[in-house]
Amino acid sequence: MSSEKSIRQRLKKGESFDLKGLKEEVNKIDKKIGAIRSKDFSIMNNGGELRGLPVSVKDNICVEGFPATAGSKILETYRPEITATVVKKIQNSGGNIFAKTNQDEFGFGTFSMNSAFEIPKNPYDTERVTGGSSGGAAALTSALDQPHVALGQSTGGSISNPAAFCGVVGITPTYGKVSRYGLIDYANSLDKIGTMAQRVEDAALILDIISGKDEKDFTTLDRGNGSLAEVKPDVKGMKIAVPRQYIEFEGMDKKVREKFWDSIGVYEDLGAEVEEVDMPKIAKEYVVPTYYIIAMSEASTNLAKFCGMRYGIEKDTEKESFNEYFSEIRSEGFGDEVKRRVLLGHFLRQEGYKDAYYIKALKVRRLIIEEYKETFKNYDIIASPTMPIIAPKIAEARKTKMIEIYAMDTLTVGPNLAGIPHLSVPCGKVDRMPVGMHLIGDHFREDKIVAAAKAFESDFGTLERPKVV
Ligand code: GLN
Repeated sequence: MSSEKSIRQRLKKGESFDLKGLKEEVNKIDKKIGAIRSKDFSIMNNGGELRGLPVSVKDNICVEGFPATAGSKILETYRPEITATVVKKIQNSGGNIFAKTNQDEFGFGTFSMNSAFEIPKNPYDTERVTGGSSGGAAALTSALDQPHVALGQSTGGSISNPAAFCGVVGITPTYGKVSRYGLIDYANSLDKIGTMAQRVEDAALILDIISGKDEKDFTTLDRGNGSLAEVKPDVKGMKIAVPRQYIEFEGMDKKVREKFWDSIGVYEDLGAEVEEVDMPKIAKEYVVPTYYIIAMSEASTNLAKFCGMRYGIEKDTEKESFNEYFSEIRSEGFGDEVKRRVLLGHFLRQEGYKDAYYIKALKVRRLIIEEYKETFKNYDIIASPTMPIIAPKIAEARKTKMIEIYAMDTLTVGPNLAGIPHLSVPCGKVDRMPVGMHLIGDHFREDKIVAAAKAFESDFGTLERPKVV
């Protein structure tokens, strides 16, 4: 089992990866979990430090030669002419990009049920959701016995959430640490590419490789505190804040909360100081509307380019004007949640409404950032459960109203609005489903959350892997 040894240990020993075994395993498990959008096992690179390590890529990250649908029908025929910087970096290090993973359409969702193609299934219980929007990435990472790391992407929690639901580690870096060149944007001021793996060190290893300044993305910076893969597992003397607003709110499952408190106890045993704190500005009532107003406003402008001319499906039409043609293509190519967000996004930034919504949300965002910064003056990291619930059944999720689903993002949208790094590490199970602990750090202090996650993992261990086939 890959969880027995870290990928770095395997690489150090000179072990190589079994492409044939990977292919057989992927073909078997994917029939059950629907995690993959497209795959190609002919690409193999054994050179470089990664010696052919299998890496999967979320379908909104472009790889020349692979389709990139971002979970949308409108991009079904799109073949990118560019390769994202993150992918180039992995390939240059000898990683083997073999699959694109399923996701919510353009990243719009919390359960990956908004994929235009197929709903990926949770490997621990295939009647349940994977979480979203990087649901395929998390499900594949969770189900595969072969060593593998996934590239995911988060705007408001899309790495942490599915990582928690599928029992794997997910790291979302500081905004600007990793290049977004070659990413199909959701909301430019929020999007980050990050990593998922069965162990903290494996996710950190690939994050080290994809980080750094990129001429092709002016928001990137070369900052950090050295190699994250090499960070020691250590929380001795660390001060950990647990915000009451992240623990006591409507929608937080009692059993998940209890599991979290049990887990945080490990830190006290390891010599950290844990304190409950008040952070009123990160309460659900502020973070959820602020996030959705900003995310939808940015998304609605980003999606304007998918109109059937430059990108996406094209067709012969009887329509006489561009507007009619564009409407026809967009009506057919976009799913319901995409249409809702385009309409709402336009409304929120429209003259006459913009001050009341979009501009106000930007001001609240500033206050939310200040509140985190203030907390980091006295504490090293912030901890909470990652999601307030375990992965729901697909049938139940179908009956849940969108507004209730948005509220389930309460714990993950705050750090995304602030652009601060966060990490979900498996911390046990409730009703046989995985639960994640969320560790949040100050800007470019990935080292602290990685140190704390490694310390937890060394003490607690990793979860028993699911049996999919
Ligand atoms: N659930 C959130 C949304 O729908 C987050 C998704 C994401 O991070 N891409 O916007």
